Formats: sequence, C-alpha cells, structure tokens
Amino acid sequence: MGRVFVAGSINMDVVATADRHPKVGETVAGRQVLYFPGGKGANQAVAASRLGARTTLIGRLGKDSFGAELKVFLRSQGIDLGYLQETTAAHTGTAIITVAEADNTIVVIPGANALVDADDVSVVPLLDGDVAVSQFEIPLPAIAAFFQRARAAGAATLLNPAPAQSMPGELLALVDILVLNETELGFLAGTELSDGDEAARIIEVTRRLQARPDQTICVTLGRRGVLALAGREEISVPGRAVQAVDTTGAGDCFVGALAARLADGTALRDALTFANAAASISVQRMGAGPSMPTAKEVAAVL
Ligand code: ATP
Repeated sequence: MGRVFVAGSINMDVVATADRHPKVGETVAGRQVLYFPGGKGANQAVAASRLGARTTLIGRLGKDSFGAELKVFLRSQGIDLGYLQETTAAHTGTAIITVAEADNTIVVIPGANALVDADDVSVVPLLDGDVAVSQFEIPLPAIAAFFQRARAAGAATLLNPAPAQSMPGELLALVDILVLNETELGFLAGTELSDGDEAARIIEVTRRLQARPDQTICVTLGRRGVLALAGREEISVPGRAVQAVDTTGAGDCFVGALAARLADGTALRDALTFANAAASISVQRMGAGPSMPTAKEVAAVL
C-alpha cells in the first residue's frame, strides 16, 4: 500500500467574531476569538490520515507558540512530521479572520510557508505507488522539485492549484492528477466559467488544459459533484444531496480523500466516488480540519 506525502502550507487560523466589522481606523469590541489549525497542506494531510492513509506532511513552521500547538494537533491526527522544518527566520503562517454580519474578511500572512524550498523535499523517501500532493500556498519551485523527485521514484503527482495563480507549463507537465474547482479551471485555461456551465463545456475547457495525453484532470463542482477527464475517458460523479452547513475545506477534504484511495490502489472512478462522498460529509460540519470524516463514516454512506 502506498503512502501519501503532502508538501504544503500549515497555518493557524485566528477567528474573531464581532457584531459588525470595524471601519478603517475604528476599534470595535469583539465577541469571541477562536483558533483553528488550517492551511491547505495541513487540511489535506488531516483528511488523508483520517481516511486511513499513512501520511507525511512536509512544510515549515516558525519556532513559536502557534507552531508548537500545530505540531501537537497534527501529531494527534496520526500524521508523520519527520520532514517538517522549524525556522527562526519567520513566524508560523497565520490567517486573521474577522467574522461579522455573516461576512468575513481574511488577511493571510504566509510566514514560514513562504520559505519552503527544494531542499525541504530533497530527502523525502518517495517510492513507487506513493502519491505526492501539493497546492499553491508554498513556492512553486519547491513544488516542481517535489514532483520531479516523485516522478523519478515512480510516485504519482497530484496538484490542487489553489489559490489560483498562473503556473509555468513545465510544472503542469509534471502533474499526473490535477484537482481544481471551476474558478481555478477558468483561470488556468484563460476563460470564463460559471456555476451553471454544462458538463460538455467544462470537459471542452478541461481538454484544452490537459498538458499530457495521459493526464487526469478532476473538476470539483460543489454540490454538483465532480467531472474528470482521465486521458480521453470522461468520468462524472454526481453530487450527493445533503444539507450543507459550512463548505470550508470541502475541496481539501476531496483532495486528501482522493490521494488516500489512489495510494491504496483504488481505481480512479471508485476513488472519485469515495472522495465525493467524503467531501459531502465534510460540508455537513463546521470548520475545515475538524470536519474531515473517517473511512468508516464514508463507508457508511456509500
Ligand atoms: P472550498 O474552497 O469551499 O474548500 P472548493 O471550491 O475547492 O471548496 P467545491 O467544488 O466547492 O471545492 O467542493 C469540493 C467537493 O465537495 C465537491 O466536488 C463535492 O464532492 C463536495 N461538495 C461541496 N459542496 C457540496 C454540497 N453543497 N453538497 C454536497 N457535496 C458538496
């Protein structure tokens, strides 16, 4: 059975709730402050580990109290932290989120995440059958080095290009499985896509983005499920009708779940069905990390 290696961001999300947002220059009294482990890398590693994959997280934390707390949390999730670096050159990645009037404002300070480099991934023991996962919250040269190593070892590479930013063609060519939402697909393909777009149109845009004939591109469509182009084969998995309460982290749950199943040798169509079910459970719970289901919970709805 292969392992999942995630190279990515680790943040502390600091959430302040208030009755209203302050105006520029104003101070308002808040109601509550909450701390949540976050960052796409950490969220995806939590999902993969809870779903039964042997999971290693590669990234950087500051040598500070948030870093220490995050390590305790990640270890409690059964994630291998042997390749995590601690740095004094920057603080732990932090997101400052203000929630008021059912709206939020977010300031993300990447901190140590911005220092992840090719050396951090150079010693990772990737093997044939493993899955190497990354996202766009660490520098692209580190992702490219990670994927080059993975491919040389016979591991599969899975990229979630979020938050959207342009990427060099050489990086896209290193990707075996690209998992992205419609907005990211539109951005990377240089076209407008909207919520109601037909499957045929999405597949047509996906085909244009495909960098290699054997590349798999999975487009997550929120409550509508997922569409994938695997080489020339089209796979559609309809969304599950559930009562969504908080979709934060749904994409991260999907990616972690897909990686977990591909690492244990599950065929793509079944792995997509599993990931779609896992993500549909996560949207019925609050938060990102805490909303990730276990394999038993997913099995119960399949
Ligand atoms: P986010 O940024 O909120 O984490 P995303 O935009 O990256 O999410 P989505 O396409 O919204 O990703 O959702 C990912 C997957 O989660 C979907 O493909 C689907 O499997 C599941 N999902 C999301 N929203 C719902 C919903 N309302 N009902 C059922 N499943 C959902």
